[in-house]
Amino acid sequence: MEKLFRDIEYNYNLIEERISEAALKAGKKREDITFLAATKTVDVEVINYAISLGLKYIGENKVQELLSKYDNYNLSDASLHFIGHLQSNKVRQIVGKVDLIQSVDSVKLAKEISRQSLKNNVNTDILVEVNIGEEESKSGVKAEMVYELLDEIKNFDNISVKGLMCIPPICNCPQKNLKFFTKMNNIFIDISSKKLDNISMDILSMGMSADYYEAILSGANMVRVGSSLFGARNY
Ligand SMILES: *Cc1c(COP(=O)(O)O)cnc(C)c1O
Repeated sequence: MEKLFRDIEYNYNLIEERISEAALKAGKKREDITFLAATKTVDVEVINYAISLGLKYIGENKVQELLSKYDNYNLSDASLHFIGHLQSNKVRQIVGKVDLIQSVDSVKLAKEISRQSLKNNVNTDILVEVNIGEEESKSGVKAEMVYELLDEIKNFDNISVKGLMCIPPICNCPQKNLKFFTKMNNIFIDISSKKLDNISMDILSMGMSADYYEAILSGANMVRVGSSLFGARNY
């Protein structure tokens, strides 16, 4: 554990530095960019150690895993997001527990989040997930369908759309994802400029371990970093 913690502290500081540098290059300040740690497969004591270093946002992918760790996260110092694919029938298990759901890609899912939020007397912030690479296997709504989705969900009770999220095609070549990041940023700016009722475009969540630097240069203001912080995952 000692060794692991030292590695994580080193990684954390390095990521912080790179985020600061990219922010500056993008004409922004460090505090304009949110560093969220993707915590799938990571033990809760390790997550809490990262929180003790100053990490303020964590994101889980699986409902079951989130629930099994939930009572032990140090959530007095960090905010919990859901970032994975979410089935409607599991929504009730996480509403009230997570501060934001990043992966909303259908009217059905948004409706269920709204229904459960109303029932629990909470408001749930959401991002619309865009399938920017138009991959068959990926969740997310197609770019050209984003407006239609927003239009249908904007008046749902107890949910607030806060922005967009994407997971571009997997490749170990950050440059290749630039066109997807740029396309996302254009959609984000276009929606912002339309000033739609009940829709705010505060968060553009894109960029992971391999490409968070490039994502920030392309307009991301939230990056989701897993393996560069915690080390490679062994499933
Ligand atoms: C795992 C995951 C990440 C982080 O991936 P890394 O490449 O390990 O940084 C980001 N976003 C989502 C939705 C993830 O599932």
